[in-house]
Amino acid sequence: MREDLKVYDNVLQLVGNTPLIHLNKITEGYKGQYFAKIEAFNPGHSSKDRIALHIIEEAERKGILKPGDTIIETTSGNTGFSIAMVSCIKGYECILAVSSKSSKDKIDMLKTMGAKVYVCPANVPADDPRSYYEVAKRLHKEIKGSVYINQYFNELNIDAHFHSTGPEIWKQTEGKITHLVACSGTGGTISGTARFLKQQNSDIKILGIDAFGSVLKKYHETRKFDKEEIYPYRIEGLGKNLIPTATDFDAIDKFSKVTDEDAAHTAREIAKTEGLFVGYTSGAAMQGLKQYYEEGEFDENSNVVLIFPDHGSRYMSKIYSDDWMNEQGFFDTQHESTSQSIEV
Ligand code: PMP
Repeated sequence: MREDLKVYDNVLQLVGNTPLIHLNKITEGYKGQYFAKIEAFNPGHSSKDRIALHIIEEAERKGILKPGDTIIETTSGNTGFSIAMVSCIKGYECILAVSSKSSKDKIDMLKTMGAKVYVCPANVPADDPRSYYEVAKRLHKEIKGSVYINQYFNELNIDAHFHSTGPEIWKQTEGKITHLVACSGTGGTISGTARFLKQQNSDIKILGIDAFGSVLKKYHETRKFDKEEIYPYRIEGLGKNLIPTATDFDAIDKFSKVTDEDAAHTAREIAKTEGLFVGYTSGAAMQGLKQYYEEGEFDENSNVVLIFPDHGSRYMSKIYSDDWMNEQGFFDTQHESTSQSIEV
């Protein structure tokens, strides 16, 4: 390829360097400045491109991965999509064990990228042989020359965000960031970004978002695993029913929990007010930010960065479907559908 042509060798060169966008309307009347990091601008449309590329390239550097090898992972969908994309370009087989809670759109997208998908029941304990962890572990044992990414227990997940998301935010805010608001699933995003930011300025506050039905907030406060906290919920990718080692709980100052219903309505509100078509957990992050605001977390000197992890197109049959919202009982006296479709 001629050097003077402005072309990319492949989509992997577009991973990272996502934009930070000023929120204008949804935070109207709030003291301080609010910015969203739009991870949907990654080529795989989520923050998970960063970890897929980083972990696979680290394995290549260490000589663990050879052409034609198999990459295995458990995933709520986004990590799978990113691994499938990287595998496709780099010539690896990709096997994904996913939760049955993942949207049909996500599962179909994984197959489109050439991945082999195992759909595993969502509401079984992590040590059940049918859980996606156990299925992935078994396949890893059975398939020679396979690499198990294991994002919940892989320190490189944190490392990926330490080397990309953190430095990007620091540069984009010219070091003026005062608070980071981010969802925690594996914890890689919040932990890696937090470690980098706190290294630059230890006063930066790291505010995590967890789901009702997940153990993370309670664990952060007590350092005890309380299984009473666990019950089924609908948000995909947020919270957990186990304690991931990819979460650095010491780097996080606080957690706030959000409900399925509030997160869904807030995602719809982001689309309507900011013109940003983002995923369910972006709604959760924004909802958490509102809760933190109400608790008096921010003032006129605050420069708050919140992370919007993925794109709304993955949730068309869920939070962006009025039928689905109705089925969940999410339209009530507080929240009515604002969608308009006029038959002509
Ligand atoms: N949002 C979505 C949509 C996700 O898929 C994930 C990853 N599970 C997260 C947020 C949380 O990111 P992390 O795993 O880095 O904590």
